[in-house]
Amino acid sequence: MDPFEDTLRRLREAFNTGRTRPAAFRAAQLEGLGRFLQDNKQLLQDALAQDLHKSPFESDVSELITSQNEVDLALKNLQDWMKDDPASKSLLTRLDSAFVRKEPFGLVLIIAPWNYPVNLTLVPLVGALAAGNCVVLKPSEISKSTEKVLAEMLPQYLDQSCFAVVLGGPQETGRLLEHKFDYIFFTGSPRVGKIIMAAATKHLTPVTLELGGKNPCYVDDDCDPQTVANRVALFRYFNTGQTCVAPDYILCSPETQERLLPALQSTITRFYGDDPRSSPYLGRIINQKQFQRLQGLLGCGRVAIGGQSDESDLYIEPSPGPRFPAAQFQDADAPRRCGPELEEIFGPILPIVNVRSLDEAIDFIKRREKPLALYAFSNSSQVVNQMLDRTSSGSFVGNEGFIYLTLPSLPLGGVGNSGMGRYHGKFSFDTFSHHRACLLSYPGLEKLKEIRYPPFTYWKQQL
Ligand code: NAD
Repeated sequence: MDPFEDTLRRLREAFNTGRTRPAAFRAAQLEGLGRFLQDNKQLLQDALAQDLHKSPFESDVSELITSQNEVDLALKNLQDWMKDDPASKSLLTRLDSAFVRKEPFGLVLIIAPWNYPVNLTLVPLVGALAAGNCVVLKPSEISKSTEKVLAEMLPQYLDQSCFAVVLGGPQETGRLLEHKFDYIFFTGSPRVGKIIMAAATKHLTPVTLELGGKNPCYVDDDCDPQTVANRVALFRYFNTGQTCVAPDYILCSPETQERLLPALQSTITRFYGDDPRSSPYLGRIINQKQFQRLQGLLGCGRVAIGGQSDESDLYIEPSPGPRFPAAQFQDADAPRRCGPELEEIFGPILPIVNVRSLDEAIDFIKRREKPLALYAFSNSSQVVNQMLDRTSSGSFVGNEGFIYLTLPSLPLGGVGNSGMGRYHGKFSFDTFSHHRACLLSYPGLEKLKEIRYPPFTYWKQQL
């Protein structure tokens, strides 16, 4: 007995009727999604607090308002985004009509992770609905409270013949992926991304893979350490470091490290007080498995600041360090001893790797997988631009953190090991639309078109 078959057949039949295509239907779904966010604000905030100990402010900023903004943007621009794009023409097609039509793929599967369980489920959903698709949503089974709200409440706000939430972990998702979808949008780890892509290959289903990775943060000697510490700490410890685009490790000289560490200490105290554990602004690790993994990372180097933890509360103190000389980071033994080389940190730990120069930092970055995000801090725009010009990553930020995610005019997406495809704002609409090349000619004008037919006489070839 296949638990998904009936649901998927129902959605596909609904799509085939064409009911999701009109702008009015799409707008009604987006409005429903907006109402879901407003009516269930408290429920969602409570669920996020239970899952991740998120403060209401952090939940609002990074989950609820972000999702609402995407809904509002899509509603405002829907008619415009849906318009055909006119295409330029040649002499032979001058009288025809050539354009690119944005049409829905059909039945779309969205698979989400646990770290921003509202945002990373609903923001892709906005794009899929705006583009006129039927959608199966698979939230993360790990952020259980949020999964429950999404499963119980969200379908009430959307047309249930075109939309479904399905639940489950790896095993259930594996069975779900045996079915044919017209598009799969996955956010999660590179390891699972490969499983998703392999499953999609069987049906030649196109995919967007929003994956993770290690995001280097280069800090130049020419910088104000306190400013850098404030900006890095804000974005490293936001959501307790469980953010795919968070700075994963710092690359700097030993001299800059000595200036940066006291600045980070002072920032952490200012942000979270003398006892960060009692701060309402610091979350918790999602579960014991992740806690133990992070605990292991803390033990693999010399932690400069913090390092306190409590498994019963899933608490880990914001901890700059451990420190690694670049040579040790690259040591063949290091990966086994010190996970940072292999896996993204995904927690409130911030390893520091010592390099002697910008060139060495660039070399260090280029010898690794392409990151999802790359950060460079320097008073010198030349240094920032060199880092930009000589490296590749999903996104690049100079002298800031992942504030760029608030701009729907910039896409979110990886490159290489950090993913493929992009979304946010109009990029989402385009991702979930097939761009269909269309040329509409006339049944008449045959005399004019004669010119193309064999035999290709001498005078025709002269044209
Ligand atoms: P994950 O890859 O373990 O799980 C993601 C989703 O895949 C979940 O819904 C899960 O149920 C499902 N899944 C897990 N194992 C599966 C399997 N074997 N077969 C089929 N489905 C499976 O990721 P996670 O732990 O939930 O999230 C953390 C990861 O996500 C990190 O690597 C992080 O960097 C990444 N991430 C990326 C972005 C981005 O925008 N690029 C955003 C957030 C998180």
